Amino acid sequence: MKFDTVIIGGGLSGLTAAIVLASQRRRTAVVTAGQSSLHFCSGSFELLGTDGAGKAVDAPFEAMSSLPPSHPYSRLGGAAGVAPLLERVGPMFEEAGIAVTGSATKNHWRLSPVGVFKPAWLTLDEMVSLSDLSAMPWRKVAIVNIKGYLDFFPRFLAVALEKRGVRVAMEAVTVKALADQRVSSTELRAANIARLLTDDVVDALAREVNAVVGDAEAVLFPAVAGFENASAAERLRSAVGRPLQFVSTLGLSVPGIRMEKQLTRRLQQLGASVLHGDRVSRGFFTGDRLDAVETVNLGADRLEADNFILASGSFFSHGLTALSDGVSEPVFGLDVEAAGRRADWFDKDLFRPQPFMKFGVATDAGFRALRGGRPVENMRVAGAILSGADSVAEGSGAGVALATAMAAANAILKD
Ligand SMILES: Cc1cc2nc3c(=O)[nH]c(=O)nc-3n(C[C@H](O)[C@H](O)[C@H](O)COP(=O)(O)OP(=O)(O)OC[C@H]3O[C@@H](n4cnc5c(N)ncnc54)[C@H](O)[C@@H]3O)c2cc1C
Repeated sequence: MKFDTVIIGGGLSGLTAAIVLASQRRRTAVVTAGQSSLHFCSGSFELLGTDGAGKAVDAPFEAMSSLPPSHPYSRLGGAAGVAPLLERVGPMFEEAGIAVTGSATKNHWRLSPVGVFKPAWLTLDEMVSLSDLSAMPWRKVAIVNIKGYLDFFPRFLAVALEKRGVRVAMEAVTVKALADQRVSSTELRAANIARLLTDDVVDALAREVNAVVGDAEAVLFPAVAGFENASAAERLRSAVGRPLQFVSTLGLSVPGIRMEKQLTRRLQQLGASVLHGDRVSRGFFTGDRLDAVETVNLGADRLEADNFILASGSFFSHGLTALSDGVSEPVFGLDVEAAGRRADWFDKDLFRPQPFMKFGVATDAGFRALRGGRPVENMRVAGAILSGADSVAEGSGAGVALATAMAAANAILKD
C-alpha cells in the first residue's frame, strides 16, 4: 500500500499532523498501537505553565525566551515561530467538535483532581477554568460525586476552594443504573459510568443533583460524561438548575478519550486511513531514506510512503524504551539524546524535575530523525518523543505536541 505520508502514532501530535495533511488532500495513513496520553488527559492543554522551577507562567509566549536552545520551542524559533503554528489549532478543534476556551498569550487556571490550580492554555468548555484566582467566581459551591466512584476526591477540591474563601458542600448521589453497576468497589470506574449515561440516566442524575445542592451557586462534578461527544455532558449541565462544571478525575479520562475519538473521526472524514490497534514493528531504508514500514497486523504487506512522521510518544506510550543498558527508540533504532549513566536518568528527589523527561529522539534543525548521526531525509519527528522538553516540570505537553506536529506537516506540504 502506498501513501503520501504514513504517521506512526495516533496521539495528539500524530492525529493533528494527519488532519493538516489530509485536509490538503494528501493520501495519509496513521498507524496507532493503542492508548495515548490523551486517554489520561486532564481536559486542559498546556503550552508553558511554569518556568521549569515551579514558578507559574502568566504569558507563555513571553516566557519562551527563557527556554534553553535545545527546547523544541526554541528550535522552532521561540514565540515568533510557535505562534503561527498554533493558529491552526483552534479551527481544527472546532471542526472536530472540540469546544475549548483559553488563549496562548495568557494562561488561565485549571483545577487538578487533587485540588491544585495549574496554569493552562486551552480547557474544554465544560471544565473548571478560572481567569483570576484572587477573585473566585462563586461564594458557595456544591461538589457532587457519584456514590461509589473512587477516582474523584471532593475533600482535596474542597480544601483548595476553602483556602480561597469559597464555602463548599460535599454531596454524593446515585441512580439505579449506576448503583446496579457497583457489584464491587472496583467496577464503578469512569469508563463504566460514561457508558451508562443515556439520556434517561442523565436526567435522573440531574434530579438527584438538584435535590442535594441547596443554596450553592455552582456545582462541580467529576468529568465522567460523554465518550463519543459532549452531548451527555451538555445534557447534564442544562438539566441541573445552576452552573455545573466538570473537574478532571484520576485514572482514565473520559474527556480525553472523547477528544481522541473526535480527532480520529475528523481525520476519517477527510479520507485518511487509521489503522487502530496496529503497531509499526520495522522500517525499510535505502541509504538515508525510509521506504516503507511493516506493521504487526499487515505483516509482509508493507506501508510505503514518500514521507513519514514519527509521533509514537515517550516512555509512557513505548515510543522510547529504557532497559538496563540504555534508552532507545525501539522501532527504527534512531539516535536518542539521553544520559548514558543510569544513575543520571533520574533525581532521587521525586519532586524535582526528572532528567529522563527530556530524553528523546535526536533530530536535525528541520526535525528530521537522526540515524547513525545522519538525518533520515523523509522522516520528521513530532510530539512527546522529541528530546529537550519536560512536559511535567514545564507544563508544556500539548503545546510541544501540537507545535511540532504542525511544523512536521507544514514541512511535508512545502517539500
Ligand atoms: C499520562 C499523561 C497525561 C498527560 N496529560 C496531559 C494534559 O492533561 N495536558 C497536557 O497538556 N499534556 C499532558 N500530557 C503530556 C502529553 O505527552 C502531551 O500533551 C501529548 O498528548 C503527547 O502526544 P503525542 O502524540 O506526542 O504522544 P502520545 O500521546 O504518547 O501518543 C503516542 C501514540 O503512539 C502510539 N505508538 C507508540 N509506538 C507505536 C508504534 N510502534 N506503532 C504504532 N503506534 C505506536 C501509542 O500507542 C500512542 O497512541 C500527559 C502525558 C501523560 C503521559
